[in-house]
Amino acid sequence: MKETEIDWGNLSFSYMKTDYNVRCTYKDGKWGEIEVSDSEYVPLHIAASCLHYGQESFEGLKAFRGKDGKVRIFRMEENARRFIRSAEGVKMQPMPEELFCEMVRKVVKLNERFIPPYGTGASLYIRPLEIGITARVGVKPASEYMVIMLVTPVGPYFKEGFKPTKVCMSREYDRVAPKGTGSIKVGGNYAASLVAGEKAHDLGYSVMLYIDPKEKKYLDECGAANFFGIRDNKYITPASESILPSITNKSLTQLAEDLGMTVERRHIPVEELETFEEVGACGTAAVISPIGEIDDLDNGKKYIYSKDGQAGPWSVKLYEKLRGIQYGEEPDTHGWCEILD
Ligand SMILES: *Cc1c(COP(=O)(O)O)cnc(C)c1O
Repeated sequence: MKETEIDWGNLSFSYMKTDYNVRCTYKDGKWGEIEVSDSEYVPLHIAASCLHYGQESFEGLKAFRGKDGKVRIFRMEENARRFIRSAEGVKMQPMPEELFCEMVRKVVKLNERFIPPYGTGASLYIRPLEIGITARVGVKPASEYMVIMLVTPVGPYFKEGFKPTKVCMSREYDRVAPKGTGSIKVGGNYAASLVAGEKAHDLGYSVMLYIDPKEKKYLDECGAANFFGIRDNKYITPASESILPSITNKSLTQLAEDLGMTVERRHIPVEELETFEEVGACGTAAVISPIGEIDDLDNGKKYIYSKDGQAGPWSVKLYEKLRGIQYGEEPDTHGWCEILD
């Protein structure tokens, strides 16, 4: 696809072929050179451990074309560190932070013509992934690994603007086990969430809001995003061992403090839903997805947050602040963006 043919203002969150991806293989006890590929395929042994036993992890981050024309990559060291934790959590070889960042810079530079122009609300999504590639039929970690990074231009998550959606919750589904893999970013968690996710979609909801898998009392992950509630100038987000520590959430809590809010990270009992003024989900894809209504499928209870179809004022403020930093419109006081040279 020529960049002149891309309708930047109407991109969705889906895959588009770009020019190159980068790869790096761990073999004989060391990481090799970064390889550049123009192929969209991976040659894999049919017994590769990722195919049979799920040795896989991934990341998601974005590069933005700023107001000043410069390209900004948002908090990639955080993704690099989480990528290490994920690898360790499924017994894969962790990739050193600096090598991860070098691969990110390289894949963004190689595909620079796919970074959407400023003002379109679009960005370049970067997807790193790691797989175990050793041929194995016995259950044992691989000894060889491959990290691949691909990029694709994506649109703003909300085509019709920043509008609250409806989510549902149910005690009948768990995304992860209490001491399982919930706090790392592995594909298996997503496979395990598809039944609940499709159930929510079939019933007309955007996602399933999970309740903690151990006690079934507290709010947990919201689909594949973190949950937050706002009340009395407080930003409240669940502390749970089955939640993935979102970098967006970490950034929003910092911005909330900057704006004079108090941040609470703790268990949130389901009943507390009644008390929130605003609730939302957060993650790299959308920054904030405001939630207008939560329906409890088990007892028919409904929690309504938006009667007029608009997001709440704190959600709007936090969203605009973070987007502003990513697009170079607001001062990057915390040093979150790396400007690509
Ligand atoms: C990726 C992800 C998030 C969001 O994390 P960000 O770093 O903000 O993109 C939240 N929950 C789950 C389960 C995830 O996989």
